[in-house]
Amino acid sequence: MKIKFLGAASMVTGSCYFLTGEKTGLMVDYGMFQGKGEDVGLNMIKPDIDFDLLTAVVLTHAHLDHCGRLPLLIRYGFRGPIFMTEATKALVELVLYDSAKLAKEEESKAVLYTDEDVEKILKQVEVVEYDKPFMVGEFELTFSDAGHILGSATVLVEEKSSGERISFSGDLGNTPEPLLDPTHWVKKADVAVVESTYGDEIHEPRDEVEELTKIIAEAEAEKGTVIIPSFSLQRSQEILYIFDQLKKQGKMAVETPVFLDSPMAIKATDVFREFPNLYNRKLRNQAKTDDPFDFPSLVLCDTIEKSRQIKNMIGTKIIVAGSGMMSGGRVIHHAISFLGDPKTQLIFVGYQAEGTLGRTIEDGAEKINIWGNEITIKAKVKEIKSMSSHADQRQILTWLGKMEGLSHVILVHGEELPRLVLAEKVRQEFPGVKVDLPMLHDEIEV
Ligand SMILES: [Zn+2]
Repeated sequence: MKIKFLGAASMVTGSCYFLTGEKTGLMVDYGMFQGKGEDVGLNMIKPDIDFDLLTAVVLTHAHLDHCGRLPLLIRYGFRGPIFMTEATKALVELVLYDSAKLAKEEESKAVLYTDEDVEKILKQVEVVEYDKPFMVGEFELTFSDAGHILGSATVLVEEKSSGERISFSGDLGNTPEPLLDPTHWVKKADVAVVESTYGDEIHEPRDEVEELTKIIAEAEAEKGTVIIPSFSLQRSQEILYIFDQLKKQGKMAVETPVFLDSPMAIKATDVFREFPNLYNRKLRNQAKTDDPFDFPSLVLCDTIEKSRQIKNMIGTKIIVAGSGMMSGGRVIHHAISFLGDPKTQLIFVGYQAEGTLGRTIEDGAEKINIWGNEITIKAKVKEIKSMSSHADQRQILTWLGKMEGLSHVILVHGEELPRLVLAEKVRQEFPGVKVDLPMLHDEIEV
């Protein structure tokens, strides 16, 4: 068998691998390249593979950097099945329509595909269950819970004639995490194609609940505004759940309003409610009698009017709005209204990429310019680092260590440095195991 690397090789975005056997070709993920310049240009290039051999596509999870190029397959003539879990399907629908819409709205972005392309590609989706093997040509495929975001999967591929097994990690969760079931281990595989996003890092212990408790107490004492730029999938739901707990425990005033100001996050939260079977045990129990994402004084801003009214509200308020890196979305309006006020706290809860407004502020800019408005930042800027949804170095090594028969590790989905550091660690902990670090368009025999 051969694996060709068509994305996320020496970078984090654009996940796509093409596995070929004798008669079958399997694409694992077809994600968007994100970031700047030439990386984004890569989205337009038709992958250099034999499309006649492409039998099926499997999707590990609904993040844009894993699913964002799927509608292009229509243009390349692919009419076969795209396998994913039911929760991933529900989220992918949101993500792809949103991606088509954003491209239309932002002139700087190239229009990769339209709503019609999205509609067509979704018709090819076939839902699969965790831990239920199924056949694609000569391959037997099994999805298992990766614990990264709702519906996320690791995909194990077994070539039936040889019995050789390859596992594609997808993105691995920062397990155990607050909402989801822990990552399920792959018990046996010869080859592992594994992500390395935080291959050089050990996460700090989780302290987001304590941090947010302090932030809310400060806001309530000075009647200030808290702005949390947040990602729609997973992170927004984690934050809602924390506020739900804090209000129940009396650590946050019942009347303090929380505005969820992101139509996409509102819809994604509805998807979360549909899949309580994917929650971890604690949350599953709570969800039997209580909605963990709803609490007194939560305001869902499903219209732009509701969003606009927030700035006229006096007193303590919490605003959870996208985009997570402040590169667009409704959070920009709140930045204009509130960042000049010393009673505002701006809280980053996720990675801020270079070139985004979020990064500029995080790096300590005193003045920013948004759409011609010069704003002197008087708000307190804070960062909660512990809310990662990716495995760190230790968790990746643990995942690999559970695999009986492992002889070959292929590191993907990481920048060069994390990947090199992780490669060294893998060599130390698993002597004799071959380690590969493919570059874009490389092909590796397995
Ligand atoms: Zn992901």
